[in-house]
Amino acid sequence: MTRRNAIPPGSSTTQTISNANFSTNSNHAIDCAPRVTDGEWPEPSSHSPSSPASIPPSPPGSLLDLMAGTTHLINASLLLPGRGKPQHNMSIILQGGTITSIQPTASVPPPFKNLPTTTVPVLMPGLWDCHIHLLGSKTFNFAEIATQSTALAGARIARNVHDILMSGFTSVRELAGYGLEVSKAIEEGTLVGPNIYSSGAAISQTAGHGDVFDLPSGFVDSLFGVRDTQSNAMSPGMGPMIIADGVDECRRAVRLLIRRGAKCIKVFASGGVLSIADDPLRQQFSLDELKVIVEEAQRAGRVVGAHCHGKDGIMAALHAGVHTIEHGTYMDKECVELMKKQGTVYVPTRTIVKVGVDHPELMSPESYRKMLETARHHRDAYRLAVKSGVKIALGTDLGISTPATHPLAHGRSGGELAYAVRDGGMAPLQAIEAATAMGPEVLGGLGMAPKSGRIEAGYDADLVALIADPLENMDLFKDPDNITHVWKGGRLFKSPLPL
Ligand SMILES: [Zn+2]
Repeated sequence: MTRRNAIPPGSSTTQTISNANFSTNSNHAIDCAPRVTDGEWPEPSSHSPSSPASIPPSPPGSLLDLMAGTTHLINASLLLPGRGKPQHNMSIILQGGTITSIQPTASVPPPFKNLPTTTVPVLMPGLWDCHIHLLGSKTFNFAEIATQSTALAGARIARNVHDILMSGFTSVRELAGYGLEVSKAIEEGTLVGPNIYSSGAAISQTAGHGDVFDLPSGFVDSLFGVRDTQSNAMSPGMGPMIIADGVDECRRAVRLLIRRGAKCIKVFASGGVLSIADDPLRQQFSLDELKVIVEEAQRAGRVVGAHCHGKDGIMAALHAGVHTIEHGTYMDKECVELMKKQGTVYVPTRTIVKVGVDHPELMSPESYRKMLETARHHRDAYRLAVKSGVKIALGTDLGISTPATHPLAHGRSGGELAYAVRDGGMAPLQAIEAATAMGPEVLGGLGMAPKSGRIEAGYDADLVALIADPLENMDLFKDPDNITHVWKGGRLFKSPLPL
C-alpha cells in the first residue's frame, strides 16, 4: 500500500509511505525484491571496487520470476557509489534486499531490460546520520526528557523516524534515547523509518552530562541508576540515560545495555553543553571507569562512542580505546595524531553547533552560554581533523521532536553535508563518502556493522535518488523534496507522484 504522505508539511511533490497510514501488514512498501529463493538468480561475479560487477548474458531463473517483481533494475544518469569516483549512465540490479549487479546501461542484456525499471538522474547510497537521539521531547530540557510519558515520546518519535527516512537517511546511529525500542516497530513493519543502530542509554557519571541537575539526585538515580534496589528495580538501564559510578557500576551499565539490545555503547567522557551545571572542558569518568566500559563492550562485540569536548576527556577516552569521538570541540594535534594511530573515527556533529546558537529558547541560559563558547572552537577542530586525514563520519546530534519545519527537527540531517564542505573544508565527494560509506565504520569491526553505505555488489540495497548532481550543490540535501526516491533493503519507500 502506498499513499500520498498525509503528514504536513512532508514532501509535497512525492509519493511516500506514511506512518499515519501504516498497516500491520509489512507489505506497505513497494516490494522490489525480498522473495527470492536460492538459485533463482546467479551469484554476482567477483569484482574489484573499481570495476563494476558484470551481468551474465542470460538469466538462469525464469523471466516470469523476474517480471513478477523479485528483481528490480535502476538506471541512473549519474551514479555516486559512496566510495570512489562518480560514474555515468549506469544500471544496477536489486535482488533480495541486496545490490547484485552494477553495469553500464548500454551493456545491460535485453532480457534484463524487461525487469521492473526505475530511471533516475542521480543515484547514491542511502545516507547515514551517525549521531542522533530519539527522545520524543520538544526541548533540550533534561528534566522534561527524564519525566515525560514514554507513550507520548514514542508517538512523537513515530513521526520523526518517518521524516528521517523520507529525507534520504536510510540508517542512523542513535546514541541515547528510545531507538532500540522504536527499531523493533520499524523492523516488524508497524512504523516506517530508517535502520536504527542504537546504544540504548548513554552512560554518565553522577554530576556528569547525563545527570539532571535540577532534579533531586535520589530521584534521578531512581530513574537512571544501575542498581535494582530502587524504584526502577524492574527496569534499570531502560531510559535514555544510565548513571554509573565506579568500575563495578560501569561494568553493570554496559551489561544492562547489551541485555537491552544495544548495537554500540555511548559514554560521556567530558561535560556537555545541554546539561546545566557541568563543564565541557572537564573530563568525566576516571580512566579506569572508561577502560572497563570499553573492555566490557568489546567482550560483547560492541565498540564505544565517547561524547567529549575538552582535551582531557578526549585523551582519556582515546587511552581507554574508544572507537569514535563525538563533537571533539577542543581537539588539537596531539588528539588527532592519536586518533589516526588508533583508527578512531571522528563524528563532528556540526549541525547542533551551527543551528543551536540560533535557538536559545530551546535550552537553559546556562546551556546557551556553553553553546556559544563551544561554537567558538568547534570549527577549528573540525578543519584540523579534515586536514590531518582522520577518519570522519557525519552525524548531526539532532534529537528533539520540534515541528518538521524547524531547522533542528528530525528529517533535517542533510544540512550536515554542506557544513562538511563549508565549515570542515571537505571536498564534496569526501563529504558524500563521510555520509555514506563511512557510516557503518562507526559501529566498528566486531560484528555490529552492516554492509551498507556503498553501491557495490553484495551491499544492502539502501539507495536514494536526487533531482540533480549534489557535487554541484551540496545544499540539495537540506530539502527532503530534492530526494525523489528512497529504497531501504530493496524496498521503495518514496517515489515521485505519477503525473
Ligand atoms: Zn548527542
